[in-house]
Amino acid sequence: MTIRLKETDAAVIGIGWTGSIVARELTKAGLNVVGLERGSKRMPRENFTLPSVRDDLKYAVRQELFQDAQLETVSLRHSPADTALPIRRLGSFLPGTDLGGAGAHWNGMTWRLLPSDHNLRTHLTERYGRDAVPAEMTIEDFPVSYDELEPYYDKFEKLCGVSGKAGNLGGQIINGGNVFEGPRQNEYPNPPLTRSMAGEIMTQRGAQSWLPSVSGTIKQRQQGLHQLRRADARRL
Ligand SMILES: Cc1cc2nc3c(=O)[nH]c(=O)nc-3n(C[C@H](O)[C@H](O)[C@H](O)COP(=O)(O)OP(=O)(O)OC[C@H]3O[C@@H](n4cnc5c(N)ncnc54)[C@H](O)[C@@H]3O)c2cc1C
Repeated sequence: MTIRLKETDAAVIGIGWTGSIVARELTKAGLNVVGLERGSKRMPRENFTLPSVRDDLKYAVRQELFQDAQLETVSLRHSPADTALPIRRLGSFLPGTDLGGAGAHWNGMTWRLLPSDHNLRTHLTERYGRDAVPAEMTIEDFPVSYDELEPYYDKFEKLCGVSGKAGNLGGQIINGGNVFEGPRQNEYPNPPLTRSMAGEIMTQRGAQSWLPSVSGTIKQRQQGLHQLRRADARRL
């Protein structure tokens, strides 16, 4: 039976990051928007709080937050002569499903590309010579430069509250941030996260003890590691 719903200005099919950003922009422009999502309605308070969020069987084994390949099958063939076969269980590429799509469970890492990532072929050729990129390698420049995309990086970081410390504000290098990043017009909307103990060991003391010794002997490196371990034992 066909159900006739009230007319609306726009319908967005699929409410992941892309669909929700499009819907938000359209509603800001004054349109009435309906979002149609194939999956269920998952809300942070009901679905992503302790202890139920730690349900390994549901999420890690049965992969409930991902497209069910048995319902919506993707088929694969390795050559045009093969018969396409259905993939019943997805491996590394896991399309999201449910309200929020993959954005409901992503890792929340939102790096900007480096300016040289945007024009990689030109960058490599200029830096390492005409033969640096082998003929059969398909590396190309993006049609959009870092500078053109920068206002949108900025917008997205504000939209989802990315945290960090700028290392290059409008061309001015800032110590404590990533000094290799492209120039940003604004500081991050949120301050850097507090470092966990593991992160602290890895980035501060780990890097400091390793860097001078990387060029040193194996014995020096081992001494650096021993010092680290002794310091950890004392800390624990
Ligand atoms: C485990 C995991 C971790 C990740 N971590 C990161 C990270 O740290 N940083 C990062 O930048 N990216 C990360 N990603 C990638 C990022 O989450 C995705 O690129 C992003 O969420 C894609 O958004 P999207 O809106 O394009 O698609 P999706 O999130 O896939 O949304 C599409 C939506 O459309 C719905 N849909 C599809 N077909 C239909 C239909 N016919 N009718 C109705 N609805 C439909 C789906 O159910 C889904 O909700 C991660 C992805 C995964 C899977």
